[in-house]
Amino acid sequence: MSFLEQVPLYPLAPVLFAAAAVLFVLQMGRHLRVFAAAQPALVTDQPESRLRAAFVHSIAQVRMFRDPGPGLMHAAIFWGFIILTIGTADRVTFGLVHSVLAWPFDGWLWRLLLPVQNLLGLSVLLAICYALLRRVVIRPRRLTLSRDGLTILLLIGGVVGSELLSEAFRIGRHGDPDAAWSVIATPLGTVLASVLPPAVLDLGYAFSFWSTVAIVSFFLVYLPRSKHLHIVTAIFNALFRKLEPRGELPAMDLEAATARFGVKTIEDLRWKDLLDGFTCTECGRCQDACPAWATGKPLNPKTMIMGLREMAVEAEQGVPLVPWIRPSDAAGRSAADGLAAPIVDAAIPYDAVWDCVTCGACVEACPVLIEHVDKIVGLRRNLVLEESRFPSELTASMNAMERYGNPWGQPATARLDWTRGLAFEVPTAAAVAESGQDAVNDLECLYWVGCAAAFDDRNKRVARAFVTCLDAAGVRYAVLGQEETCSGDPARRMGNEYVYQMLATANVETLGRYRPKTIVTACPHCFNTLGNEYGQFGADYEVVHHSTYLARLVSEGRLRPEKADARSLTYHDSCYLSRYNRVMADPRTVLQAVPGMELREMEKSGTNTFCCGAGGGRMWMEEDRGTRINAERTRQALETGADAVATACPFCLVMLRDGLADAPDGRGDGIVAQDVAEIMAASLPPGGGNGRALPVLQRPP
Ligand code: SF4
Ligand code: SF4
Repeated sequence: MSFLEQVPLYPLAPVLFAAAAVLFVLQMGRHLRVFAAAQPALVTDQPESRLRAAFVHSIAQVRMFRDPGPGLMHAAIFWGFIILTIGTADRVTFGLVHSVLAWPFDGWLWRLLLPVQNLLGLSVLLAICYALLRRVVIRPRRLTLSRDGLTILLLIGGVVGSELLSEAFRIGRHGDPDAAWSVIATPLGTVLASVLPPAVLDLGYAFSFWSTVAIVSFFLVYLPRSKHLHIVTAIFNALFRKLEPRGELPAMDLEAATARFGVKTIEDLRWKDLLDGFTCTECGRCQDACPAWATGKPLNPKTMIMGLREMAVEAEQGVPLVPWIRPSDAAGRSAADGLAAPIVDAAIPYDAVWDCVTCGACVEACPVLIEHVDKIVGLRRNLVLEESRFPSELTASMNAMERYGNPWGQPATARLDWTRGLAFEVPTAAAVAESGQDAVNDLECLYWVGCAAAFDDRNKRVARAFVTCLDAAGVRYAVLGQEETCSGDPARRMGNEYVYQMLATANVETLGRYRPKTIVTACPHCFNTLGNEYGQFGADYEVVHHSTYLARLVSEGRLRPEKADARSLTYHDSCYLSRYNRVMADPRTVLQAVPGMELREMEKSGTNTFCCGAGGGRMWMEEDRGTRINAERTRQALETGADAVATACPFCLVMLRDGLADAPDGRGDGIVAQDVAEIMAASLPPGGGNGRALPVLQRPP
């Protein structure tokens, strides 16, 4: 305590800090009261996973290191600041921290802490210089130069700098038995003592000490209104993160008479969505990753999250700081007014709601685990189900799904047209079931064809190629044929939960009749919906993507690709396959099993893939804002110089085919887009290994 007694008016320091702490708690309490007005969210399940997430994403900050420079800078500031608060805490607790840490092991713990604090203090100051340089001089596009950001950096720098300086002045003036351990403060203090008289050293000590206490107190009062509140909220955001599969949209009860359909206002969001808003660091990683933003559309996931936070803060204006004092809002607003304000056209423009391809790149990029997609689909649900406000071109596909069970508006009787001309019969589950349930049980898999492969001419060839592989491998399989309807993915992502639930219920009932061991599909959207979302209807299937199934057949030796294909090829990862479901190795395994094939990776691949532009129901919407997303992805594919583009998704296939056809200066001429099943089927020996003729086109025109 002795070194604290050397500070003039020292006893006022804890008082000032305590007053700031009370204001901090009151402001945080006001945030929580707005959270309480929002919808509930379950966050107590799977405690181990939650704790792991909190450690990995909040303590170790692993996602920050995907961008190593800024990641290191952030870690230095974060960890330096945390460790240095030990010294700050000591200043406002009458030296209690020092006494406690100096007590065990004969004072060694405190001595070991001193050099760590000194060196971290220096690294924080250097990191802050770098952060200021980035914001003011380098100015990467994703960062916004805000007064708040600069204020916080200067406050952190002020706390750390003044704390180091006060130690230097104190040691320079009075010495310290542990001075040798303060590896920065002691040499600095020696220099100061050699050039300054004792009175000035005293003054410097008092001034820098009080600067630390004043800045920390101001920081506490300012923090709840700053984006840097993430220092506090990030760990809770990780702890309470969504643990359902990334591709599973929240369930919705269409029967609840009093319920609001979807999200219209702040009050309709779950409290975890509001926590997301208060956790956003405005780093812009989501903006950088967003294909809609990259192609000049008004959608910006970063400003949407910032907008939600601003709306929540706005709603707080009508909430009293002290709970038992009634609000006297000068602007005449009440909390209820703020909570009832519509989100669309406030936090996010109407057009931007429809620009989203639900690719999940924003969610993948966000270092603090913010979920953007669920919020955007929530807004769509409200626009569609309550306001009937959606792009006019969606009417046809929604009606087609409702009436015909597919967005193409084709009759169910045409579902097996793709099998015409095959040299072998494609069995239906109904036909197999006529021989009894044992015959159905004997099937190795049920091939879920999907609407694209059933009705789109280009994708019919993929279905033919895939059953050719199944037939060549001697797999016992069946299809649903006329009993299959759309999985409902497009309807759900368009916001039409009513049509989705109608389709999903019918499919779950149909599948329940056959109880297939394994469902295989070539469509990542069906794969995601059947595997991750039908659980909300009580279903529990093993759903496998066709690339995984083909890779399995190859590894088991049931498929033997022999015909060489001496092309270079780049593989485009579908968002719903790679990012949402982590299937990345299997399609590549299939391609690399083909003799002579050279695989070239695009810069954006795997979980970092760039959308083709067709997800989120955008396959059925006009793209008249900015440039086309498929054109940008095609440009990235052409940059590899590969002879062909492979994919494992029917939507991606169509978008890339169109992108190649429309590529400027004929750069896409002679380059084909193909599904992995087509490439595999083309490589099978004549007869496919079982004596049957292969009916697959070797090279699509
Ligand atoms: S899901 Fe994709 S398109 Fe939608 S906001 Fe996120 S990054 Fe942008
Ligand atoms: S939402 Fe996440 S990625 Fe986007 S700006 Fe905020 S913290 Fe960064």
